Amino acid sequence: MPINNYGINIWGDANYIIEDSEVTLNHLSKPSLLSIVNEIRQSGLRGPIILRFPHLIQKQIETLYTTFRRSIQEVNYKGEFKAVFPLKVNQFPQVVEAITTHGKAFNYGLEAGSKAELILAMSQTSSGAPITVNGFKDTEMISLGFMAAQMGHNITLTIEGLAELESIVEVSKACNLKIPSIGIRLRLHSSGSGVWAKSGGSDAKFGLSATELLEAINLLRENDLLDYFHMVHFHIGSQMEDITPLKRALREAGNIYAELKKMGAEKLHAINIGGGLAIEYAQHSADRLRTYTIEEFSNDVVFLLGDIMNKKGVEHPDIFTESGRFIVASHAVLITPVLELFSQDHQEKSLRIKESNPPLIEELLELNKLVNAKNSIEYLHDALDHMESLFTLFDLGYIDLQDRSNAEILVHVIIKKALRLSKGYPTTELEKLQIRLQEHYLINASIFQSLPDYWGLGQRFPIMPLHKLDEPALRSANLWDITCDSDGEIGFSSSSPLYLHDVDLDEEEYFLGFFNVGAYQETLGMNHNLFSHPTECSVIIGKEGYSIENIDEASSLLKVIASLGYDETQILIQLKNSLARSTFITEEEKSDTLQKLELYLYQNSYLRTTN
Ligand SMILES: *Cc1c(COP(=O)(O)O)cnc(C)c1O
Repeated sequence: MPINNYGINIWGDANYIIEDSEVTLNHLSKPSLLSIVNEIRQSGLRGPIILRFPHLIQKQIETLYTTFRRSIQEVNYKGEFKAVFPLKVNQFPQVVEAITTHGKAFNYGLEAGSKAELILAMSQTSSGAPITVNGFKDTEMISLGFMAAQMGHNITLTIEGLAELESIVEVSKACNLKIPSIGIRLRLHSSGSGVWAKSGGSDAKFGLSATELLEAINLLRENDLLDYFHMVHFHIGSQMEDITPLKRALREAGNIYAELKKMGAEKLHAINIGGGLAIEYAQHSADRLRTYTIEEFSNDVVFLLGDIMNKKGVEHPDIFTESGRFIVASHAVLITPVLELFSQDHQEKSLRIKESNPPLIEELLELNKLVNAKNSIEYLHDALDHMESLFTLFDLGYIDLQDRSNAEILVHVIIKKALRLSKGYPTTELEKLQIRLQEHYLINASIFQSLPDYWGLGQRFPIMPLHKLDEPALRSANLWDITCDSDGEIGFSSSSPLYLHDVDLDEEEYFLGFFNVGAYQETLGMNHNLFSHPTECSVIIGKEGYSIENIDEASSLLKVIASLGYDETQILIQLKNSLARSTFITEEEKSDTLQKLELYLYQNSYLRTTN
């Protein structure tokens, strides 16, 4: 039995289990994450690694479709369920390939929000699968939509404002290309919940108000385009933690749909409910985020829409979703070696008590000896007070460095004893002290590159060691990344702590996994301090074993520098010349140094020492 399962039962969705003290995939041959990582590192690769598991993408796609199809069957809903994957959530080729491969059976399509994403969608979607296009569009982007239609794609351009509709009219008049389907994004007065809930609401960045909708219908009719108007769309925001706002939006959008049908939008046949299906990231039950299941979500959508249409005597529309986070969040794990532990825990064994000590040190020794459950808080305050005085004495030159070190150690030991003795009486002061005693684990990764939503939004991700799960993890931890930025830190409060193992990194390696990082983190991540996208690969798990595919190593130092616009060759020449001109070493040493330098330049920018 694992001593601490790190909430794997809360966030893990049965994708992982703990077996033989390691995190193991709960699929077919059940390899452990550590065995996969070790195999990749055998080739000499170092630094953080993103492991992708396409079977988890497949699982999510299947879950989405089967759940909606079941709801549809249960209430005898007449429309069909359709879905597209919003590329902005993860555009990396290995991810898009898994999506198009496993989505084929369902005719799963892609959603694009920019010209580049539209080109990706046009080139990656299997023919017949839907493409939807959201976001602001210029005439060029609209022309691209016409080209896609001409190429045979089932594409819908969702307009965000009247000006875009005018551009569609303009392009349709200017060319003979096939006309794409037209969608209209609704500006609803109901809005979402959670950190990302800025997409809905009447002050939202996107969508048409009721008045604009009426104008749009007129414009379409006047230009003989009304028959191309096929879809209404809304999106109330990402990571929707509660279902109530969605229900409100569905009622509003459903009624708008029915009204539009009655107004003569005969070919209108689909409601696109956007994305927003949430993922559970919490590691402690008290922090749970999502308050509904996918079954509840799909039942609500299907039932509510059916109910509105029945009441208004309108045919049931097809239901489109654009959930992205739900599809890809779970497929990726970031694995980072721990490079160092910065012990805040001053050990009593390092004390070097002198024959004769300053009186305040003698007092600290007494406090340490006599601290008990009754006096712990009082003694703790005395100790902190003495430490301040001792620091002042040191600044004034009255005590030496050994005295100062002894003071630091004694005070830390007293704090630890006081914390232990006063358990059950948590005060804010004690909580703050507890955090001061946290061990800092240095991880070989950049939070800015790999967990930008933690940096920007305080979004938590599940974190746990990949191994040693049969040993007690007693160190209250705090994580530091390797950027030179004080924001490159993941802190933990005493109410939701992370406990890690006490490891001697000279003796053994220690790996942490950051889970559910497959949505948004990768293209949002930035090269702060010039740490680039980590090494990535896909792992295909079979009945007998697994295979590691498409290992794509993090960019080399030179490539990272070149990506900023520097000339690689120029840099290389400059470094070589400087070395050649240097003095006091032999030609042989120069050539050895040059060889080493060249090796470094072609390695990735993450640290290689120890791990
Ligand atoms: C971002 C976005 C989505 C995806 O949202 P998720 O929360 O990832 O499901 C869907 N549709 C639109 C229009 C979006 O902007």
